[in-house]
Amino acid sequence: MEFRYRYSDAVRNGVQAQVPVLYVADADAARRFYEVFGYSELRTGGDGESRWSYLQCGELTLLLAAVTPRLVTVELPLLIYLYVDDLTATIDRLTAAGYPVERAGYPDHAPGGECRTTDPDGNVVVFGQRRAVPEQARSPEADKEARFSLIREAAERVSRHGSAPARCQIGGPRGEACPEPAEVKLADSWGDTVWGCLAHADETLLNARGAFLATEDGQGLGAYLRTRQPPSPPIARAANP
Ligand SMILES: [Zn+2]
Repeated sequence: MEFRYRYSDAVRNGVQAQVPVLYVADADAARRFYEVFGYSELRTGGDGESRWSYLQCGELTLLLAAVTPRLVTVELPLLIYLYVDDLTATIDRLTAAGYPVERAGYPDHAPGGECRTTDPDGNVVVFGQRRAVPEQARSPEADKEARFSLIREAAERVSRHGSAPARCQIGGPRGEACPEPAEVKLADSWGDTVWGCLAHADETLLNARGAFLATEDGQGLGAYLRTRQPPSPPIARAANP
């Protein structure tokens, strides 16, 4: 029997709405946070020690649930990405309500800018603005600072680990050797890697599409493969780079 999956079936039988559910410690504290940027409570309820609050903002909904004993489902906080119409107004409201906000530059997916904060449960909430802002209206330091802080973070991790070669391997645009110390490692998805000083790593990240900061955060291939090895004798690790 031939079965053809038609687009119209997919639409008719597909998802019609999406309700993210956040488990929170205090439903009221979380609701106050989400109200700052447009959500309002549609319904609320509870049963014994548990409380829930169903929030709406336009067509979007969000369910906050506080249960006792507290449900711990993930070790890391969640990250919620929300697009807003006016990022500056959102930043102003959050700041006025006492939530610290950090501007995070102008990535391709948010040419109007991006910022991050955390909700009362420590979930990271990132706001982006899709509508681009003209170059002269951009917050001048936001872009540079955001990328540079990522590079600095990576550099600090490397210096704690002590695995960098002595000198920058990127060098100048015409192949000039760079005397600066290598502080961060860049990679691409093919596996090419290079060590660079902060300035040349920054320039490379801007210009080499697909290059990213390589970090040793215990979640990479090396750590994964080590879990598949017999515990002893210890496996010699490949020298960097
Ligand atoms: Zn350099």
